[in-house]
Amino acid sequence: MAKQKKFITCDGNYAASYMSYMFSEVACIYPITPSSTMAEYVDEWAAFGKKNMFGRPIRLAEMQSEGGAAGAVHGALQSGALATTYTASQGLLLMIPNMYKIAGEMLPTVFHVSARTVAAHALSIFGDHSDIYAARQTGFAMIASGSVQEEMDLAGVAHLATLKSRIPFLAFFDGFRTSHEIQKVEALQMEDMIPLVDQEALQEFRNRALNPENPVTRGTAQNPDIFFQAKESINKFYDAVPDIVAGYMKEITKLTGREYHPFNYYGDPEAENIIIAMGSVTDTIKETIDYLRAQGKKVGMIAVHLFRPFSAEYFMQALPKTVKRLAVLDRAKEPGSAGEPLLLDVKSQFYRKENAPLIVGGRYGLGSKDTTPSQILSVYENLEMNEPKNDFTIGIVDDVTFKSLPPKEEIDISPKGTYQAKFYGLGSDGTVGANKNSIKIIGDATDKYCQGYFQYDSKKSGGFTCSHLRFGDKPIRSTYLVNTPDFVACHVSAYINLYDVLKGLKKGGSFLLNSIWDEEETKNRLPDHMKKYLAENEINFYIINGTKLGEDIGLGTRTNTIMQSAFFKITGVIPYEMAVDEMKKAIVKSYGNKGEKVVNMNFAAVEAGGKNVHKVEVPAEWKNIEVKESNGTSDRPEYIVKVVDVINGQKGDSLPVSTFAGAEDGTFPLGTAAYEKRGIAVHVPEWQAENCIQCNQCSYVCPHAAIRPFLLTEEEVDAAPEGTETRVATPSKMFNGMHFRIQVSVLDCTGCGNCVEVCPSKVKSLVMKSLDSQQAEIKRWDYMVNEVSLKEKVVDKTKSVKNSQFAQPLFEFSGACAGCGETPYVKLITQLYGERMMIANATGCSSIYGGSAPSTPYCKHKDSGHGPAWANSLFEDNAEYGFGFSEGVTSQRNRIEDIMRTALNNGVSDAEKEAFQLWIDNKNDG
Ligand code: SF4
Ligand code: SF4
Repeated sequence: MAKQKKFITCDGNYAASYMSYMFSEVACIYPITPSSTMAEYVDEWAAFGKKNMFGRPIRLAEMQSEGGAAGAVHGALQSGALATTYTASQGLLLMIPNMYKIAGEMLPTVFHVSARTVAAHALSIFGDHSDIYAARQTGFAMIASGSVQEEMDLAGVAHLATLKSRIPFLAFFDGFRTSHEIQKVEALQMEDMIPLVDQEALQEFRNRALNPENPVTRGTAQNPDIFFQAKESINKFYDAVPDIVAGYMKEITKLTGREYHPFNYYGDPEAENIIIAMGSVTDTIKETIDYLRAQGKKVGMIAVHLFRPFSAEYFMQALPKTVKRLAVLDRAKEPGSAGEPLLLDVKSQFYRKENAPLIVGGRYGLGSKDTTPSQILSVYENLEMNEPKNDFTIGIVDDVTFKSLPPKEEIDISPKGTYQAKFYGLGSDGTVGANKNSIKIIGDATDKYCQGYFQYDSKKSGGFTCSHLRFGDKPIRSTYLVNTPDFVACHVSAYINLYDVLKGLKKGGSFLLNSIWDEEETKNRLPDHMKKYLAENEINFYIINGTKLGEDIGLGTRTNTIMQSAFFKITGVIPYEMAVDEMKKAIVKSYGNKGEKVVNMNFAAVEAGGKNVHKVEVPAEWKNIEVKESNGTSDRPEYIVKVVDVINGQKGDSLPVSTFAGAEDGTFPLGTAAYEKRGIAVHVPEWQAENCIQCNQCSYVCPHAAIRPFLLTEEEVDAAPEGTETRVATPSKMFNGMHFRIQVSVLDCTGCGNCVEVCPSKVKSLVMKSLDSQQAEIKRWDYMVNEVSLKEKVVDKTKSVKNSQFAQPLFEFSGACAGCGETPYVKLITQLYGERMMIANATGCSSIYGGSAPSTPYCKHKDSGHGPAWANSLFEDNAEYGFGFSEGVTSQRNRIEDIMRTALNNGVSDAEKEAFQLWIDNKNDG
């Protein structure tokens, strides 16, 4: 009887660590996004004593850097232990020196890499192949996977092949797209892997270990006489790798029924036009091929699995004899090269060959740019042209060097019966967690295949999230965002005015809105374009006040379980009763140790979601609404309207290359965060003037500079919006009759409550009120910051906490988490020294909230126009980078001093003499 397959619902990182755990004895780690969870899983399993195939838990060491992790792996391998690590991007680049050594010393290991962009003009935590390309010269063999299932299968091949070949392997898959995509996959079993291990090779590896009982010297220094020959002696081991890999792929195919080769061909056996690519895009290409073949097109694709060593023999075996034209897709850009790496590899296979096909190369998907079937269609169309474009790009509009292929309308080519859903949420509101749970429920409790992918903006929390879910009876190969959903849920009422949440929703689809208003008010608040879309597309429109239900139940702002339950109730993707049972089981698992009260609250949320979701009749006349285009007039700067607002509205993909003309080096202007006005707080503080003791502590602790004290003259009080309350500023002697007011920017406040908590007045001078009730404060805030003059010189701002807060913060409205304990200090430094600051910011939390395009919280001083000049280099070098600033500035100052001294010696006017001397005397006084 055939062995029962075991399915699990997991992401690519889980699949990689699951396999690596079986084969490894030591893991040396240093976390870097998006690879971090691989190491975290291994850490957790080791802590719980999970056993590898040698009957022991892995020994895990967290090192001080990726360089350290690679060094430790190197050492562990030399001592005869099977060691591994997990990394990405710059982390991989920091491992390169040790990778050369490990490969040169023929030590078997697998480095698991969730491929990520290497920072250049900007940092990107997202995926492309620039990191693995940078490591391709190290001597590591490289094996590519395009999906979570392939990662599970091919990670095993890498571990088996490294032992047999003695060549170290880098097993890679696409950062985020595969590392964080959740799929239902078959889990390979350890008892099936053990018989595949080459025990002799393993024993030989252990025998070669450094050992004082059998001592040798390794890693010698060699002179010109022998280094070269010794290096060439390794050739035969690389020659053997393709056969070894192909052999193990056959074994995995036997076990799983999934066919693997160093190069897998997919498509028409007599195809004339084919694409060559590796990574997650290969699944999207397969879908597109099926679509085109159904129309009679003879197209195909070669998916590269064994990238290094690149085997001409296996490549030619995979290539149909009929092929006339090839498009090679690279997920990276090598500026100034004759072509990207995969293109050059493929071209070299045909050098001096008769009847060689026409070969063109293109770039796609940099920094996780979504690659859709319509983009792949344009690649095939390009191949059909008389003269196909070479060196092309897809997925962007290049209106500067005109390399992009023409964009096409998105099409839905997912298999019939695939259900697609999109959920708009707020970072930390639990939407993503609930959706992960829904996938697990559907994946584990039914025969359905499922996929989940989660999109975030750069805010640390409280930012935009969009979950993309697919369910179906066939394996899901759509490795791109959901563009034509059957169901859309919007978990944040305010989003209806910020984003086009209905975009692509299918005719007859369903829309669920978490609405803080009743039915009538909801209808009033919907923008016209939404009303028209709902009516024209016969959308089933549902509302639920999850926010109020959550508060009533005692869950605060956590609306996730309520919305999850409503989703199951509306869509019926699985029977609702089954969904309720499974949700409750998951609640017990997650919160069981937090006590009965917490469990019951969440049970109540499940019930409330199903019971309170309510269908709204869409008036037929909404079809006739004339949607007025914005007249384009705005008092916002052009850059904000044309660039920042577009990116913040989740439409940044539409910006052409010319947007960055003049800012090719990655420069962004200061102060753009002030235009966001996100309005994400449910409750914001209201100032109770009569209780206030004017200590300014509320302003001091606010992480977002969203509450500030203002000093006003009589005239400024008179000109203030009606109803603006002020108090006489105290001590009155010091402030000479001026008025004091605490003003909240309610649209920038995140509702963290820090200000309320710290307020020391006998009766609190700040009380949290609903955002809706504080709309009048928007005008007041604008008046205070734009019309009231700065009074920071009235006091010595360096003397006390109170005084410092009258100074303008030159760091405001950052995307840091609500309640952040770090940003108040950053803000304070800018209040004290911001006009003369240069910041060398290490990569991490503070660089994300400090400089995530297009949001720049550092800003200019209202009067001087000066402000912090900010830049980020790398994770590990901010001290050196800042030291470089200091050396550079000192050298400029010295040069200026030399020029001045020469001028002084040559004779200058008295005024110049005085000015030059003054400058020289104070040149280091920043
Ligand atoms: S609630 Fe938090 S973000 Fe809002 S003003 Fe107070 S401290 Fe600032
Ligand atoms: S912390 Fe309270 S008392 Fe102090 S200034 Fe702010 S509102 Fe007034």
